[in-house]
Amino acid sequence: MSGPRLRRVCVFCGASLGRDPAHAELARALGQTIGRRGLSLVYGGGRAGLMGVVADAALEAGAEVWGIIPVALQERELQHTGIQHLEVVPDMHTRKARMNALSDGFVVLPGGIGTLEEAVEIQSWSQLGFHRKGIVYLDRDGYWDDFFTLTQRMVDAGYLRPDHRAIAIRAHSPEEALDALERWEPTAEHRWAQGARA
Ligand code: AMP
Repeated sequence: MSGPRLRRVCVFCGASLGRDPAHAELARALGQTIGRRGLSLVYGGGRAGLMGVVADAALEAGAEVWGIIPVALQERELQHTGIQHLEVVPDMHTRKARMNALSDGFVVLPGGIGTLEEAVEIQSWSQLGFHRKGIVYLDRDGYWDDFFTLTQRMVDAGYLRPDHRAIAIRAHSPEEALDALERWEPTAEHRWAQGARA
């Protein structure tokens, strides 16, 4: 049994541009690759920071784009008026739930606490068996290295199962990230958890 076919890719990333222009380059390359592969983008719905870069690149490459933005952030994150589907939701929880409901897999670009929070919560939902989609951390410069060091420490300390750590995978190019999502197979444990919930 394989995961759901990849059609819509959710991207978590910074609402800032960051200091290293290579991160914006990577965001742009990811948006372009999503469009070129005929995939759709689901993201936070803003024009700010790397979020805007991914969305604009995906649009330019012909992708259909879903943006999910909480009403309180419409101004701060510069609600994107050029995308095909903009959903204004009441709060952050609804945003994350909608991003999950619409997507078949997740790519995590460089970002800050908001990015990490979204990605980690999606991973925690996966280890509980609430979904069985792939989660890929994408960088070219080792940006996410320390996160993977931390999760290894959690495993070593007995707080995280190795197969749950393995839910988060790594990639160093957009192609590699999307290939990994296409190939993603939920573990036997995931299948069991899904069955147990049904
Ligand atoms: P940051 O990485 O801090 O720049 O944040 C990236 C994005 O994550 C921004 O669009 C934030 O609004 C969003 N974000 C932060 N916390 C949450 C949350 N609890 N649920 C959904 N989105 C969030």
